[in-house]
Formats: sequence, structure tokens, C-alpha cells
Amino acid sequence: MKPLFLIIAYLVAVTLPLILSRSIGGPPRPFHQELASGLGILAFSMVLMEFVLSGRFKSISNGVGMDVTMRFHQVMARTALSFALLHPFLYQGTPPGGQRPWDPTRQLTITTDFSNLSTGIAAYLLLPSLVLLAIGRTQLDYKYETWRRIHGVGALLIALLLLHHTVYAGRYGSQPVMTGLWVAMTGVAVGSLLYVYLLVPFLDKARPWRVATVVQLTPKQWELSVKPDGHSGLDYRAGQFVWLNVGQGSFSMKENPFSICSAPGAGSKISFMIKELGDFTRTIGQIKAGTVAYLDGPYGNLSIDGRTEPGVALIAGGVGLASLLGILRQMRLAGDPRKVKLIYGNRVVDQIAYREELGAEGVFYVLSEPPETWHGETGFIDAALMDRVFSAEELSEWVFVMCGPGIMMDIVEDHLIERGTPSHRILSERFDYD
Ligand SMILES: Cc1cc2nc3c(=O)[nH]c(=O)nc-3n(C[C@H](O)[C@H](O)[C@H](O)COP(=O)(O)OP(=O)(O)OC[C@H]3O[C@@H](n4cnc5c(N)ncnc54)[C@H](O)[C@@H]3O)c2cc1C
Repeated sequence: MKPLFLIIAYLVAVTLPLILSRSIGGPPRPFHQELASGLGILAFSMVLMEFVLSGRFKSISNGVGMDVTMRFHQVMARTALSFALLHPFLYQGTPPGGQRPWDPTRQLTITTDFSNLSTGIAAYLLLPSLVLLAIGRTQLDYKYETWRRIHGVGALLIALLLLHHTVYAGRYGSQPVMTGLWVAMTGVAVGSLLYVYLLVPFLDKARPWRVATVVQLTPKQWELSVKPDGHSGLDYRAGQFVWLNVGQGSFSMKENPFSICSAPGAGSKISFMIKELGDFTRTIGQIKAGTVAYLDGPYGNLSIDGRTEPGVALIAGGVGLASLLGILRQMRLAGDPRKVKLIYGNRVVDQIAYREELGAEGVFYVLSEPPETWHGETGFIDAALMDRVFSAEELSEWVFVMCGPGIMMDIVEDHLIERGTPSHRILSERFDYD
């Protein structure tokens, strides 16, 4: 789906409860009280939309990219949190009390019924905890899967608490139309969790894969290949990624995202270039051929298919080569007439993978700690290197595809923008969302 359509759809979904509340809500109250209700309503609808943003919906992430989807998810979580934190304070000055028969629309009072407030208070405490836990995830010594479980269960609990609070304590939420809308929106949010954790694994179960080969590329990088077991395989574009689960049941949460480094045109076997990092990636070398695997995907929009630029610049840092290798392999396989240059940066010579296959033509190897005998580029992938490799014409006309450490991508992107490369010609993928 196109980004503009997605933005409009998001805005409509998030503001629908607010607009509907406004149109059916009773007599107006002082501005600060209406603002309090409005912020509470917006915070709740944003929390519910977070489920859809974090769910693996190809129509979203393949349209704008997983990076953008996750970054948006994070920013909107913080925004919803700040709205939610302000919400109760803005009611200051409103007389408290139970529902008065003479004030059925709560124009003059707010509820003090503790059972209705308690769910709001619980959500009020849980929401900042959930957001802070997500922000500080890497500092905490949790396993990624444990964090993910806590995040999912916590978010579900908050959504249910907020539904109760909105419907029973809310001035607008208690109106039948609004109650129906909130129940439906919560249903969509819960449904997106069920989709990711139950429906997708259920469908994947019928499409198993088997590990074909495990090859050591460098001291800490491996190539893992899988082939379809009894089905036709995966329909993907070069540069996309999947969530890979190896040796677990299809419902397991032990799955990790990896870019596909093989070319779609090369057959149904799929390969991944994997760097040792943590629990799963450090065990790649022990995986036996024939082990069952499940693939959920393809996801991502790091693709040059259908683009009309005369040349393709691939800029990889370390294992970031994986997704770009898929693109390069497909271009070579299909005899793509577009010009291509690859910059491939590493720290030391031992980290260079696929050197023989990549060859020397149009490939610029960069080492930050080169040996004395090194004849290639040295230092980091930076502005000066970019200007050495690409002419002014190439910088303004080619499409630039990059993947690597955040710092490298920031430097390259800033330089490209400074040199006049339009942002729609810069494609990037990050291997972590922080
Ligand atoms: C879109 C994308 C494509 C990627 N492609 C590649 C690739 O081609 N080759 C490669 O070597 N690495 C790739 N990565 C990184 C890779 O997913 C992590 O290195 C791997 O998941 C680490 O798992 P672990 O169990 O070994 O380490 P852990 O210690 O469990 O995790 C280390 C870090 O990896 C990330 N991570 C772990 N599990 C997940 C998960 N299920 N979902 C999202 N992030 C997770 C988290 O940031 C975590 O803090 C990619 C990441 C993303 C987001």
C-alpha cells in the first residue's frame, strides 16, 4: 500500500472515536474538561492502533518499510503515553461524585466510582512501565523472546483495562454507539495479536522448510540455506527478509528476522547470511542439514524492482551485505542492464564474506583496520569515500541502497542529501529497531 494511503488510514482510525464522540456527545463542558476527555480518547485509540503497527502486516511494512513502521510505532507509543498522562489532571476543578439523575451526561461531574476508575488507574501505571521497558530493553538483561512476551501480554492487558475504563467511567464511551466502536477497535487490536501468534504460525505449519546447508563464511558469519519441503517455496523480491524459525515448532516465539541473500531467480532454495550475535545466531554452526524450519514472510521494501534509475549503488557495512547481496545476485543472474557499484565495509580482512563471488569489478572493499598488504580502500564509509566512488552525475541519478550499522547509514544518508540525491532514491534497512 502507498505511504499516503497508510497515513490517511491511520489518521482516520485514530481520530474516528474522537470525531464520533464529539458528534454524539451531549452538552459541551468547559474546554479543559473536553480536552481531558479528548486526550484520553486519542490515547486509547492510539494504543489500539499500536497493535496493528507492530503486527506483521505485509500491506503496511512492505509499503513503507519495517524501519519506518517500527519507528512510527515507537513515536506513537510515546505520544499516546503523554496524552494518557495528562488526561486525569485536566479534569481538575470538575466536581467528583457518582452519577446524578439530574446530570445523565456527566456535564457537571466526573465519576468517583472506584471500580470504574481502578481499571484506568491500573492502565495509567502499566502504560509508562511498558513504554519505559521498551525504551530500556537493550540495557535490561532480558532474553529478546522474554521481552517480546512481556510486551505483548502487557499491551493486551492495558487495552482491556482501558476498554473497561472508557466504557464505564467515560462520559462519551458509555454511549451505546461509542461502546460498540471501542469494542470493535479493541477486537481488531486483539485480532492482530491472534493473527501474528496463532493464524500465521498455523498457516506456516503447512509449509515447512528443511535446512539444506550450513557454511562458515568467516570466523563469525555463516550461510544457512533452506529448501521447501513439499511446497513451491516463497515468492519474494531481492532485498526482502523473513522471520526465520529453525528447529522449533511453528508456534514458537523463537524466530528472528533475516534478510534473504539468495536471488529470487535462482530457484526455490533460500539462503541467509547470518552473523553471530546472541542466543540463536551463536548456534548456527551446530544446525544439522534436514532440520525443520519455518519462514514467515516476505517482508520489507528494500527492493529495486521496477525502478527506472540508470544505476544502482549498494552500500553495505558488515553483515548488512546480506540484503544487498540478494539484489546484486539477482541483477547479475538476470543480466540487468543497469550499472551497479558496491561499497562493502568491514573492520578486518577476515570479515569479508563472499569475496570470490563478489569479485573486483565495481566492488569497493573498505577496511578500517587493514593489514599492511591491503590495496583497497581504508577507513570508514564516509563522505570522502562516497565522493571518490561516485561521480556527481551518479550521485544525483542513481538509486542508493544501504544496510549496515546505524552510524554508517546516517553518515551516508546525510551526505547523499547534501549532494542533492532526492530522498526517494535512498533506500535503507536497519537490522535493529532502536
Ligand atoms: C529486518 C531485519 C533484517 C535482518 N537481517 C539480518 C541478516 O540478514 N543477517 C544477520 O546476521 N542479522 C540480521 N538481522 C539481525 C538479526 O535479526 C539479529 O541479529 C538476531 O535476531 C539476533 O538473534 P539472537 O537470538 O542471536 O540474539 P539475541 O541476543 O536474542 O538478540 C540480539 C538483538 O537482536 C534483535 N532481535 C533478536 N530477536 C529478534 C526478533 N525476533 N525480532 C526482531 N529483532 C530481534 C534484538 O534487537 C536483540 O536485542 C536483521 C534484523 C532485522 C530487523
